[in-house]
Amino acid sequence: MPTSDMCAECGAPQVEGLSCWEQLGGLIAWEYNDPALHARHFLVVACYNLQHPAQFTAAALAELWVGFNDYLDHGVSAATLRQQAAKRYAGATRVLRPEAERQPQLQRWSMTIADVYLPDQPQGVVERLLRWARIIQAYQVGAQA
Ligand SMILES: [Zn+2]
Repeated sequence: MPTSDMCAECGAPQVEGLSCWEQLGGLIAWEYNDPALHARHFLVVACYNLQHPAQFTAAALAELWVGFNDYLDHGVSAATLRQQAAKRYAGATRVLRPEAERQPQLQRWSMTIADVYLPDQPQGVVERLLRWARIIQAYQVGAQA
């Protein structure tokens, strides 16, 4: 049952009183001490965003999926993806929906940020991150079938 202790969009439980957004902050803070995790920053943010799609316009979300798959499956670097995105969004293209139009819908996942950010266990985080990414990718493939 959804409760206030759970994210209304990705379903992640609070961890030590941290919301899923705050858990993302915790994970990003780890990047300073973990070069392997830092190298995957794009994936950290992409996974989080793909589990919180309500804030994005449909076009921005579609682009995010393309970049996510290019990164995971074709080894396209985060720097290249950033350049492509910068070019695309150089105009007035909107990435974020106005707040009033956002309608978060709860989607249950077998992994969320709460399974990746284990406060007492920074070791193994990159492996957890990659597992998380593959689960999100598998969901997308299923959704399109
Ligand atoms: Zn969430």
